[in-house]
Amino acid sequence: MIIDCHGHYTTAPKQHEGWRAQQVAAFDGKSAVPPRPAISDDEIRDSIVGAQLKLQKERGTDVTIFSPRAAGMSHHLGDAKISEQWARACNDLIHRVCTLFPENFVGVCMLPQSPGVSPANCTAELERCVKELGFIGCNLNPDPSGGYWKDPPMTDRFWYPIYEKMVELDVPAMVHVSMSCNPNFHTTGGHYINGDTTAFMQFITAELFKDFPTLRFIIPHGGGAVPYHWGRYRGIAQDLKKPLLKDFLLKNVYFDTCVYHQPGINLLSQVIPTDNILFASEMVGAVRGVDPETGFNYDDTKRYIDKLAIPAADKQKIFEGNAHKVFPRLAKALKK
Ligand SMILES: [Zn+2]
Repeated sequence: MIIDCHGHYTTAPKQHEGWRAQQVAAFDGKSAVPPRPAISDDEIRDSIVGAQLKLQKERGTDVTIFSPRAAGMSHHLGDAKISEQWARACNDLIHRVCTLFPENFVGVCMLPQSPGVSPANCTAELERCVKELGFIGCNLNPDPSGGYWKDPPMTDRFWYPIYEKMVELDVPAMVHVSMSCNPNFHTTGGHYINGDTTAFMQFITAELFKDFPTLRFIIPHGGGAVPYHWGRYRGIAQDLKKPLLKDFLLKNVYFDTCVYHQPGINLLSQVIPTDNILFASEMVGAVRGVDPETGFNYDDTKRYIDKLAIPAADKQKIFEGNAHKVFPRLAKALKK
C-alpha cells in the first residue's frame, strides 16, 4: 500500500472558503458571523473525484493522510474564537471526505491556534478530532502570526499543553506554517521552507525530547533546508555539546518527500536514514505545473522514490511502513 502522508483539501466547494471570508469580515466589522452554508455530499464528491482521487489513481498511490488547506488555516486572522470556529468547520469537512471515501483518505486536523494565545486552547479540538472523528494526527503551526514569528520557539514550555495532549493521544504533528502575510516571504516558496528549517534548528538548541520522549514531528517539504545542510546542523549540534543528531533527534523527527525533483530526493535518501522518511506529495496545489525536463508533474513524487537506488524493503518503509510507525492510529483508521 502506498500512503501519501501529506495532502490538503485545496479543492473544497467554494462556499466553504466563501464563508471564511464572511466570517473574517464579520469579525473585522464587529457584526454577527453568518451561519455556515450547506455543502452537499455530491458537491464534496465532485470536488474529490476529479482532483485528489483522479491523481491518486493516475499516480498509483492508495491513501492520502488528508488535512485542511494549509495556507487557508490563516491563524493570524480574527482571534482565538474565530480560529476555533474555522478549525471546527475545516476539520468537519475533512471528516466528511474521509467518511465518503474511507479507503482513500484518513484525516489530520488543523488546530485553532491564534498568535499569542497558549496552544492549551487547541487540546479540546485535537481530542475531538481524534476520538470522535477518527483523525490520526494534527498540523501544528510554529508561527501563527503568518511570517512574523511572534510566539516562543517550539521548544518553549508555551507549547507543552498541546504536546501533552499529543502524547496522551499518541498522535504526531506535522510542523506546518500557514499563509505568509509578511511580504518578504512567499507563502509556499519562502515561508514554508523557513518554517521547516526553523523548527528543526529549534529542536537542536533545546532538550524537548527529554521531556517528551515519544513526541513525534514530521517536518514536511523534505525537511526544508535541513538535509542539504546536514553537515552544518551536525556541526552546530556538536558545538553545542549535543549528542549526534541521529541519536538526539531522529527518534522523534521525520521528513517527508515533498521535494519536487529527482536530485533532491536522491540527496534526502542519502543523508536521512530510511527509517525517518515518509512518502508524500502535498498534492493538490503547492506546485501545479509539469516539469518540462521530465514531462511529469513536479508533485508526482512517487516517480522519484521509484527511481531511488535503494532496496525494495527500504522503499516499502518510505511508502508504508514508516507511516504506520509515526501514525499508530493509521491501521485502525484504514480498517473502518
Ligand atoms: Zn502542506
